[in-house]
Amino acid sequence: MPEDADYGFSTRAIRAGQHFDPTTGAVVPPIYQTSTFVQDGIGGLREGYEYARSGNPTRDSLQVLLASLEQAEHGIAFASGLAAEDALLRAALQPGDHLILGNDVYGGTHRLLHRLHVPAGVEVTTVEMSDSDAVRAAVRPSTRMVWVETPSNPLMKITDIATLAAIGHEAGAIVVVDNTFASPALQRPLALGADVVVHSTTKYIGGHSDVLGGAVLTSDDELAEKIRFIQFAAGAVLAPFEAWLTVRGIKTLAVRMDRHSSNALAIAEHFADHPAIERVYYPGLASHPGHEIAAAQMSAFGGMISVALAGGEAAARTFAESTELFQLAESLGGVESLIGYPSEMTHASVRGTPLEVAPNIVRLSVGIEEVGDLIADLETALPRS
Ligand code: PLP
Repeated sequence: MPEDADYGFSTRAIRAGQHFDPTTGAVVPPIYQTSTFVQDGIGGLREGYEYARSGNPTRDSLQVLLASLEQAEHGIAFASGLAAEDALLRAALQPGDHLILGNDVYGGTHRLLHRLHVPAGVEVTTVEMSDSDAVRAAVRPSTRMVWVETPSNPLMKITDIATLAAIGHEAGAIVVVDNTFASPALQRPLALGADVVVHSTTKYIGGHSDVLGGAVLTSDDELAEKIRFIQFAAGAVLAPFEAWLTVRGIKTLAVRMDRHSSNALAIAEHFADHPAIERVYYPGLASHPGHEIAAAQMSAFGGMISVALAGGEAAARTFAESTELFQLAESLGGVESLIGYPSEMTHASVRGTPLEVAPNIVRLSVGIEEVGDLIADLETALPRS
């Protein structure tokens, strides 16, 4: 039986870290819904398990699975994407350290940095990550981390991960990629030279809008050790049922991402020249400025699209509130299509900062429904000229 690493992605998505139950033969490993573990005499731990904050077999199975998919040595799962990000920032940065942040990232990441880590002494510069010269110019002697989303949220900007990794490493910094939008099914940042991947597993990895979670993946042993300590000591751990649901979701990740991507491409192409739409932001369109880099570092372009409405804010608000199949909600990455108005939803916390999102932008999380139904739904909701 080959090691997990010898199997292809879709096989690992189903098998890595999943040990079938030797007692009953259950094909799906049970949920270890327990807070503590019996000891064989004081300190006599079975398989190292003591208490569910320090370790739980269901969480471990997810951590091994995620590490396998991102080609990392270590996977560390948290109660949310932001809890994962916070643990990474606390593990890697000291007061006085400098971080270079992409100018189009999830609003909550910006809020976490500016409301919690900047007051604790971390310095942050926000730059256009697709511009290598701008990133180089932002480097300081104290730069310790470079943080990017690609594709970014919500403007789908693309950054060349290998180039960014080279710039970051030259500066002596750790390069972090938030891979939430692409998922490891479409893009593996560690293989391209990044040091750390973070995920909101709430999104494509869970895939069904029924679970909140996050993870850090890295092959840096020392950093992983520090993050594991924070996971244990601060306790923002992923609960067993959440871990089990996430493992279940991952089994279909590859097929879901195929369908998300083909649906999104069809929608982006359909609306690219629509009179009510000023611009479609989707890296799968040849007109997208990052298209060639995306085509080189991703195996497909994912399910996220943003559109700028020609009719401005009023048209964008009406559009976001008029679809049927695309439900108006925060979040993304589930099998069901969602529509969002970033400037007042996901990115409300960055109003007045360089990350502010224009009021005519609407974001689509394209699900895996029939694409003809999705196109008809969007057509009906768009203003008529
Ligand atoms: N990163 C990205 C790209 C996100 O979109 C989100 C949430 O929307 C997060 C991180 C934060 O994850 P969570 O909501 O699971 O804390």
